[in-house]
Amino acid sequence: MNYYKQERTVLDSKGEWDLIVIGGGATGLGTALDAASRGFKTLLLEQSDFAKGTSSRSTKLVHGGVRYLAQGDISLVYQALKERGRMQENAAHLVSKEEFIIPCFSWFSVAKYLAGLKMYDWLSGKYSFGRSRFLSRKEVALKIPGLDDKELVGGISYFDGKFDDARLAVNIAQTCMDQGGTVLNYVKVTGLLKDENGKISGVNAFDTLSGSKYKLYSKAVVNATGVFVDDILQMNIPNAEKLVRPSQGVHVVLDNSFLNSDSALMIPETSDKRVLFAVPWHSRLLVGTTDTPIETHSLEPRALEEEIDFILNTASQYFKRTVTRNDVLSVFAGLRPLAAPDKNDSNSTKEISRDHKLIVSDSGLITITGGKWTTYRKMSEETVDEVIHTANLEKRKCVTKELKIHSSEISASNSHLKIYGTDRLLIEELVKENPDWNAKLHPDFPNIKAEVIWAVRNEMAYTVEDVLARRLRILFVDVRAAIGMSGEVARLMAIESSKSGDWIDEQVNDFKLLATQYLLVPTTIIEETLTT
Ligand SMILES: Cc1cc2nc3c(=O)[nH]c(=O)nc-3n(C[C@H](O)[C@H](O)[C@H](O)COP(=O)(O)OP(=O)(O)OC[C@H]3O[C@@H](n4cnc5c(N)ncnc54)[C@H](O)[C@@H]3O)c2cc1C
Repeated sequence: MNYYKQERTVLDSKGEWDLIVIGGGATGLGTALDAASRGFKTLLLEQSDFAKGTSSRSTKLVHGGVRYLAQGDISLVYQALKERGRMQENAAHLVSKEEFIIPCFSWFSVAKYLAGLKMYDWLSGKYSFGRSRFLSRKEVALKIPGLDDKELVGGISYFDGKFDDARLAVNIAQTCMDQGGTVLNYVKVTGLLKDENGKISGVNAFDTLSGSKYKLYSKAVVNATGVFVDDILQMNIPNAEKLVRPSQGVHVVLDNSFLNSDSALMIPETSDKRVLFAVPWHSRLLVGTTDTPIETHSLEPRALEEEIDFILNTASQYFKRTVTRNDVLSVFAGLRPLAAPDKNDSNSTKEISRDHKLIVSDSGLITITGGKWTTYRKMSEETVDEVIHTANLEKRKCVTKELKIHSSEISASNSHLKIYGTDRLLIEELVKENPDWNAKLHPDFPNIKAEVIWAVRNEMAYTVEDVLARRLRILFVDVRAAIGMSGEVARLMAIESSKSGDWIDEQVNDFKLLATQYLLVPTTIIEETLTT
């Protein structure tokens, strides 16, 4: 069974694409899906793995943005709430409704947050996820036993969505392929091609798996590279003014026993006037985030000490148990591609637009950046409308509002494979093919060997990191368990794709080196981990 094998030979063909999309995060994948589903000949190139950048490092919320409501940005919230509803309908296997509880320590806060959230409910209209309501102190304590309720007067319960970001990215890539599009990971765009009039006519690309270089021609090129958009804009015009101002957000992952709850906690105003979430996710507790202006950008941003301290201290103020560095199972950082204001002289990122920016350069290069995961579909629709206009393509209507994402289903299954949607049945078939693949990869996790085989055959996973970070998500929730699984994952991948023993060693070493960056422990322990 191999449904989603990438035909990389497509890069050898000399034909012209309607559209080449650079970047395989939420924005690029959404754009490629929108274009392919309108019938355009579409190619997407991702330099690393799908969602390797910001799109695997979110807070996992599908939301209208309660915080933007507080800032009075009603139309942004209204639009996002509509998209929240569509995302839940179209990717039902990945987006679930979640109860969030805001602890209130004064009656003034109760009135303020209840009024705001009633407005949030009203704005969501037919896409409502559930009604917000007041909870007594006792109800809050029952729902979140790990919350320190000493000075609590009550709380507000409201509903938003929760999802698996990197898995949605892979499923969007598959949906794009179902619609006739071509999506390739591990192909980096290294330059832009222009015709004699200075108009964009394609890209130079480098396949990092084979080492081959290509010239690929297209009628339009979309730059959807998140915090990397300025690199592509500078390929267009050297020294072009910067469009993006990265802002780093860090999450730490803890054992679920800290709150011992199925509901998420939302702290609306931390000591530095930001929002902190504690969200149950993949049987662990995700706590974050921060908002730190950063000058540089990278695919593996590192959490700053002050960001970690801030999260641990704030969580300790609200939790019954103090949270220490030893409790952290994983820590990861992501960079928000915030669209910078035209005159960017502020050192704070709070004033910078959270909305997206779509710009067309004189050469015809189309750049889309900013926004959020929740609004990826709408941003993509606007981008493809612009592509049609700029490249003078045939006018065809967007069809993604109701387009089901690959594998979407509503299921009552209790299996951990539920997250695969309808693909769950095919993974169960694999287990019938080889009962050995039903064995668990680690005693603390339900994941089985068949999932690794599935990821190689159908989810375009090429490295141990692809499997453990973005298909199974173990690196993001428990680094030590991920390191523990890496040898077996490499062995299974090697058998499946006929790789050598050297490949296994190299993959395991590379993975362990990367994984230690997600740990908060003294170097001696890191060294011990690397040598075992
Ligand atoms: C801490 C944090 C929390 C967040 N939480 C939420 C949330 O809860 N809910 C929500 O809706 N949104 C959230 N967001 C926002 C959301 O994650 C982002 O808006 C979204 O993921 C951005 O996607 P993107 O595709 O624009 O960028 P990216 O995901 O970064 O994708 C860009 C891709 O381009 C690729 N690329 C770069 N250069 C090249 C090249 N030369 N050739 C080929 N490929 C290239 C990169 O490798 C990368 O994969 C959060 C963001 C952060 C940072």
